[in-house]
Parts: sequence; C-alpha cells; structure tokens
Amino acid sequence: MLLSGLNWEQRIIIVKNSKYELALKYSKNAIKLHERGSIPPYPKFYELFYTYTCGTHPALNEKLNVIFAKGDNPSAEVVEALYDEFLNPNDVEEKLARVANNMSEQINSVNASINGAISNADDYSDLLKTAISGFGSSSDKKSLDAFVKTIIDKTKEIQSANIKLEKKLASAKDDVTSLKSKIDDVRRDAMLDPLTKINNRKSFDSSIKASIAHAIDSKEPLSLLMIDIDKFKLFNDNHGHQTGDQVLRLVAATLSAGVRDTDLTARYGGEEFAVILPESKLKDSVKVANKLRLAVESRKLHKRSTDEDLGRITISIGVASFKTGDNAETLIERADMALYAAKHAGRNQVVDENSNIFKKYAA
Ligand code: GH3
Ligand code: MG
Ligand code: MG
Repeated sequence: MLLSGLNWEQRIIIVKNSKYELALKYSKNAIKLHERGSIPPYPKFYELFYTYTCGTHPALNEKLNVIFAKGDNPSAEVVEALYDEFLNPNDVEEKLARVANNMSEQINSVNASINGAISNADDYSDLLKTAISGFGSSSDKKSLDAFVKTIIDKTKEIQSANIKLEKKLASAKDDVTSLKSKIDDVRRDAMLDPLTKINNRKSFDSSIKASIAHAIDSKEPLSLLMIDIDKFKLFNDNHGHQTGDQVLRLVAATLSAGVRDTDLTARYGGEEFAVILPESKLKDSVKVANKLRLAVESRKLHKRSTDEDLGRITISIGVASFKTGDNAETLIERADMALYAAKHAGRNQVVDENSNIFKKYAA
C-alpha cells in the first residue's frame, strides 16, 4: 500500500482499517472452520479457531494442521482438549509466574529496607566511634553538647528507621502468608480437572503409583474402578455439547460423593473416570461400583433453561485389584479390559476381573 502523499490522519485511518480488515478476515476464517467441522460456535471454540487463523500459537497450528492435512476436521472433543491445552485461562504456569513475580518484588523491597537499616547502623557505629574519641580529647561544654545532640538526633533517626523496618517486615510476613496460600491454590488447581473440579489425569497418574507403593508396603488390598459413560456421543448429539458438559459435572460429583474421603476420584479422559480404592478388596469394590452405577442411573436429568426432561444417563464400570507383580499399567489394563467387557455385555453394568464375562472378553 502506497502511503506517501497522504497526511498523517489519512495514514492512521488506512492502517486502522487494514487491521480491521485483517481481523475481519481472521474472524471469517474462524467461522468457516466451525462450519466445516460442524463445531458448535461457542466463544471458547471461536477463540481457538481465531487463534489458529492468526497463527500466534505455532504448536496449536501444528496439531490442527495434522488433522486438516488428512482432509479431516477436529471433533468438538478435540477442539475442547486443544482449548484446555493452549488457551485455558486456568493456566497453571501463568499463575505460578504471577506468584513468583509478586514474591520477587516482595523480596526486593524487604532487601532494600534491610540494606537501609544496615547502612543506618553503620553510620551510627561510625558516629559513636567519633564521639568516643571526641570525648577523650575535648572537654569544653559546647563541643560536648554538640556531640550529645548529634548522638540523640542519630539515635532518633535510627529508632524511626527501625520502626519502619519492623512495619515493613510485618507487612512482608502477611504478604508471604498470602503468597503461600496462592501457591497452595495453584498447586491444587494443577491437580484438578477444570471442567468437573475433581482430580485430573496427572493427579490420578501420581496417586495410582503412590497407592500401589502403599499396597506393596502395607500388604493391604487396593482396587481400581474404570468408568465410562454409556452412549455419551449420542447424548451430545441429541442435547448439545454444553449440556453434555453439565452431565460430566454431575457424574463427577455423584462419583465423588459416593466414595470414602480416602478414595480418589479422577477424570481419566473425555467421558471416562477412575476411582482408586485403597484398602478395598475386589468383592467390596464391586459393591462400591454397583452403588455408584445405581447413583448415576437414579439421577433424573433436567435442563433448567428449557425445562426439558433429558432422561437418564448410565455408566459401565470395570473393576480390578492389585496383584503381586502389578504396576500401574498392568492394573489399569485389567480394569480397562473389565470395562470393555461391561460395554460388550450390554452396558450399565459392573464387570470385575474374576467374572466369567471378563474371562470371555480377555481371552
Ligand atoms: P460407549 O457406550 O461405547 O462408551 O459410547 P460413547 O458414545 O460414550 O463412546 P464414544 O467413545 O463413541 O464417544 C465418547 C463421546 O464422549 C464423544 C464425545 O463427544 C464425548 N465427550 C468426550 N469428552 C467430552 C467433553 O469434555 N464434553 C462433552 N460434552 N462430551 C465429551
Ligand atoms: Mg469412552
Ligand atoms: Mg462412553
């Protein structure tokens, strides 16, 4: 674009318009991507496609390009996962960086006050040295009065600097306490699934390892439930992805409420959950699993915004218990196989690794 020959006002309008044109182009492209993949135009999905067309997150573009290169379109599920990975404002690293920044500002300010106090103390000590040698050599009242006055003034100065430092340290102590609680929040967030607010996959992965180590040490039993919502794709297709998200929250809350505080409920993946049951034998864990299955099945789904009755949702559960020689992978694999058998046997049921159905499908 040739801008010479135009005045500054005209140039600014052209630059602004070209930014507007560019933004409009990105926006149109983002909407095209929604239409192409039949992705619901929710603000966060729009943000994801808009970011893609801007190209500001190369890693995001790389992932989407792999899908587009095959001539496919990402599913709503994939778009959701990419949003969580790249754009979710719940970004733990960003929060940690903010806390670290606050912390370093606080440390700098306390350091400056301490340095000030040290320098005051040094001045005072120099003054005392001079005063002591002055006392020895001079005896006239006038210069003694002057020394005493200087010492009193300096003492007052030091006293007021010390009071300031005390206040600063007290407020720094409060700030450090609040920063500590922010760090605890960030740490907790890092282990939680943003949608359902139960433990996320990362938390599950570390807990299952710790639980296995505990089972080996204590020789106590340990069981694992792998849970999957039945025909959830159909539910989303019928009622929309956002209503589906509400159901995920409801299932997560029902599962968490149905187990002991010492058990761990986690979102394992999209519409899959896992429950770790420490010190629980296979037989008892099957009972817990059935209780959870019935609790979910008994929840009537009702969409408040439209007063619509959405029926009920069911879950299938696979149960396995720790055996000597197991690691996290082998235990999860057996619970997964039991879940697979429960699906094949007709869904809305619990299958454990000792049952005949399991043996049939594991063979
Ligand atoms: P099955 O009984 O065999 O498990 O059938 P299914 O339809 O549940 O299983 P499938 O694996 O075919 O589909 C899983 C569905 O779960 C597809 C996807 O739309 C949905 N899903 C996964 N994650 C989310 C999510 O975060 N939100 C919503 N609303 N749906 C999700
Ligand atoms: Mg599934
Ligand atoms: Mg499913």
